[in-house]
Amino acid sequence: MKITKIEVFQLDLPLTKPYYLSGGRLKFEKIDSTFVRIETDEGIHGWGEGCPWGHTYLPAHGPGIRAGIETLAPFLIGENPCALRHINRVMDTQLPGHEYVKSAIDMACWDILGKQAGLPVYMLMGAPEPTPVPVLSSISTGTSESMLELIGEAAEKGYKDHSAKVGGTDIEADIERINGIEAGLQPGHKVTFDVNRAWEPCTAIAVLNAVKTRSWIEQPCETLDQVGVVARRVPQPILLDECMTTYQDHLEAWKNECGNGVKIKPNRVGGLTKALQIRDFAVSIGWHMNIEDLGGSCLADTAAIHLASSCPNDLNMSSWLSHYHLSVDPIPANQGARNVNGFATPPSLPGLGVEPMLDVLGNPVAVYV
Ligand code: MG
Repeated sequence: MKITKIEVFQLDLPLTKPYYLSGGRLKFEKIDSTFVRIETDEGIHGWGEGCPWGHTYLPAHGPGIRAGIETLAPFLIGENPCALRHINRVMDTQLPGHEYVKSAIDMACWDILGKQAGLPVYMLMGAPEPTPVPVLSSISTGTSESMLELIGEAAEKGYKDHSAKVGGTDIEADIERINGIEAGLQPGHKVTFDVNRAWEPCTAIAVLNAVKTRSWIEQPCETLDQVGVVARRVPQPILLDECMTTYQDHLEAWKNECGNGVKIKPNRVGGLTKALQIRDFAVSIGWHMNIEDLGGSCLADTAAIHLASSCPNDLNMSSWLSHYHLSVDPIPANQGARNVNGFATPPSLPGLGVEPMLDVLGNPVAVYV
């Protein structure tokens, strides 16, 4: 099988309401998504999506994905999309780094491999059946009262696991936020306090030794070394997120005891193939995981849920679904991994099981043959 055509689509995905991270330091109102449709000489096609969460969340840039694909496309035409390691080696040779550029291509190739094999992607990743994955809410920064209100709204939709965004410049406000949310949580509910790298190490150590919670604390500081300094001096388990890009980052984090778990986001690490390698490493050392994407429509969410569903249950925590924050849905409502009473289940159709609607995507912004 050979890749004969790569079509690229761009779609702005407006958020239903503004979203704040890091104590309000970062604000988001829409995200810029790139969809890729790869066609083959055997009549099978595959879909992928790459969608950073705005331009400020990570060194990942929506328009940069399309620029990167323009560079990569001539080297991918004629290659076998089912040879996923080879496809990734070609991309890494022709464009070192820039991992977020590659995930949409890699995702579309997994879709093709599944369609070719007649198997859903979760099964190609090792799962015997489509295990439902608990969903994780994402609670925008505010006061503890306003955040508990959002947690209550999520609870009504079945969410029992919540990611509360904290981490401002006012230490006392963060201590109040964390203690207030922990005290107000309904029985049977869990919370992770996600700092989104907002604190300096000394702030993180001060806040985390002052609060009562023993819940997960996520990415307290910018770099892996800083998070390691914090992880060795606080009583809470630490979840790594933004600072983890390469496989080597995960090895370093493990060797230096920088955390107890990791968020695996295919777009951040370069696609499902690399996310799967990291997932297997995390299983081998007993790290807990949230597996979800950086952002995007139900297509990107569904791809991540295929991977999460194939993760051993005792290590897989829950997955956030980006598409519930958006006012545009290019995926038919009866397709993809959707929240049903607090769980998302990957489709059992061959491939990813999702076919975006062309009338929503519009005309391709680039076609490579
Ligand atoms: Mg996070």
